[in-house]
Amino acid sequence: MKRMDFKHVNYLWDDNVANQLDAVERLRYRSNILGADQRITNTGGGNTSSKIKMTDPLSGEDVDVLWVKGSGGDLRTSTRANFASLYMNKFLSLENIYNKSEIKGVKTEIEDSMVDMYRHATFALNPATSSIDTPLHGLIPFRHVDHMHPISAIAIAASKDQEGLTQEVFGGEVGWVAWQRPGFDLGLVMREELRKNPNLKGLIMGQHGLINWANDDKACYELTLSLIERAALYIEQHDKGEKTFGGQKYESLDEKTRDEILIKLLPVLRGKISQTNRFIGTVHVTENILQFVNSVNAPRLAEIGTSCPDHFLRTKIKPLYVDWDPQKESVESLLQKLESGLVQYRSDYASYYEACKHPNSPAMRDPNPTVILIPGLGLIAWGKNKSESRVTAEFYSLAIEVMRSSDAISEYQGLPLQEAFDIEYWLLEEAKLKRMPPEKEFARNVVVVIGAGSGIGKATAHRIAKEGAHVICADLSEPSARDTADELIKTYGLGIGVAGTGISGCGPAIGLGVDITRRESIRHTLENVILAYGGVDNIIITAGIFVSPDKNGYMPDEKWALTYAINVTGPYLVADEAKKIWQAQELKTSLVITTSANGAVAKPGSVAYDTSKAAANHMVRELAIELAPLVRVNGLAPATVVEGSSMFPRERVISSLSKYNITFDESESTELLRGKLALFYAQRTLTKSPITLADQAEIAYLLSSSKFSKTTGQIISVDGGLHEAFLR
Ligand SMILES: [Zn+2]
Repeated sequence: MKRMDFKHVNYLWDDNVANQLDAVERLRYRSNILGADQRITNTGGGNTSSKIKMTDPLSGEDVDVLWVKGSGGDLRTSTRANFASLYMNKFLSLENIYNKSEIKGVKTEIEDSMVDMYRHATFALNPATSSIDTPLHGLIPFRHVDHMHPISAIAIAASKDQEGLTQEVFGGEVGWVAWQRPGFDLGLVMREELRKNPNLKGLIMGQHGLINWANDDKACYELTLSLIERAALYIEQHDKGEKTFGGQKYESLDEKTRDEILIKLLPVLRGKISQTNRFIGTVHVTENILQFVNSVNAPRLAEIGTSCPDHFLRTKIKPLYVDWDPQKESVESLLQKLESGLVQYRSDYASYYEACKHPNSPAMRDPNPTVILIPGLGLIAWGKNKSESRVTAEFYSLAIEVMRSSDAISEYQGLPLQEAFDIEYWLLEEAKLKRMPPEKEFARNVVVVIGAGSGIGKATAHRIAKEGAHVICADLSEPSARDTADELIKTYGLGIGVAGTGISGCGPAIGLGVDITRRESIRHTLENVILAYGGVDNIIITAGIFVSPDKNGYMPDEKWALTYAINVTGPYLVADEAKKIWQAQELKTSLVITTSANGAVAKPGSVAYDTSKAAANHMVRELAIELAPLVRVNGLAPATVVEGSSMFPRERVISSLSKYNITFDESESTELLRGKLALFYAQRTLTKSPITLADQAEIAYLLSSSKFSKTTGQIISVDGGLHEAFLR
């Protein structure tokens, strides 16, 4: 089998790579290349295994070890640490325990309790947690097993006559098992199929996916690809072309109009679905998605919901489809339809919960949709963070491809509601959610830091990212804004999920240029934030300027004007532009403006700067009144942060050192000179310690956080204690 033989999947196996690896690394390699193609499996979906002969660290004897992808993680990005390892003989002995139970079978107590038993079979103290799919691998008597969620196989598995189609497509090489919630029993059911028909190479799993096996790992990989390819070719032959999804009812909007509508729509939508928990959005627009949302059958198919359990755990059992004519209807009518659509969706969700719940079911979760489909516009997905919202967008776009394919060869069927419920509210799933660490202070928050390219802004961006914020690093210098964002991505990762159109495909941080002296520039930046994340929460402004008068004390008029444009008018324009978004969103947020201790202290040589900061102090109070009750507005008043500060360029440091008669040498480095000046300033404070960027970043963070949720209109000084700057 060669790479050119495949049209519908990417053949990526390279012997030159694989033959350098040990058996476990070969499994990792196989998993990575399978996961790299969304047509083979979705992000986080599917699992792989190899049964490998290894030396037992206790007995020194050769034993068979089942290496199988563990719970969590993702095939594409898996490392060795994502694989659990179990003694095969110990794992197989668990069947006796299972059989001893009087009540056994799918969804029984004994089945759920098996998951905890896998730990007893752990080989070599491997801490990776085994997943519920472990028996699907361990009970199949072949050395290598791949379980994937390929679009083409799910399309067969989600069709009305799935068993007959399996026979027609695979001619008896692949068997079929009806939908059953994964677990120990499903493993036994599959082994039984194989016992009845020892020639089977794999199985279509009803409403779920594909599993197949071989005794050689490369052969297993090639089999996986060839089975998926076969199903895809069959689907391709039956493609309905223009008649797909019953044909087109609406037309797409051009990109510019689409973005204009999204910019108006997203904050309103985010506010409406975020009343209990905030969500982060991802806009996903492809030709295939547009073909679906614009189609005649979209309302009917959307109502049936997604089929693969992996998909609907993120997408919810169904999306919210809004029947809106992009050519004839207004944005206002779209907003109205969304509002009534959301009310209907929540009530449908509550009815589904009531109808399907068991006496011991967990409480109903957030009833808002996570996927919203709008003709002409595309798909909007929501998640607790950017990574999850990208995954949600990816999963629904895969579900659309499943529906397209299934509709071509048969009739698409969703999972029965009770089965969907028993997955969504599975006690094992609930236990997994409960084990997750509590969310951080700024989780689910979109925070814009203006001035993030250097100094206090950069330190603040790092501080709030630590609290789980999605950080927009904005700065007059776009390259330095991007540098800060890159540092954050390097620390916290891009996340998983392959989706997001344009800027919406971003990770948890982006760097944008902004000139706060220009309203259009601010507006443009905030619009990009909306397209990237769906809205705006907190804004922290650290951008500022200090212009020294020349040696004779002269300050040109344009420098005076610039000082006011950046230190006073800039923050006002940011607040004024953000106000529209905040009001559309109707969520509580905060604005922090960096002023200065100089705003309260009169001294010679800095009249422009000091008066501009005094104006900024008072603007904090004015804005606090104007933006209440949605937005808290507070000021952070630093003094003399010299460390790494662009406010203290070399010439200002040197002129200050001369002014205070501090000995220095012109040959010394800027940081060394800054250190001397910082020590001198510290001696003038009550606490006698140099003031650092981290000190400022901490207060910028705290003022924005819920810890200060009852404080607004205040200026907090972080100046080491300057009695002459005490506000009264
Ligand atoms: Zn699966």
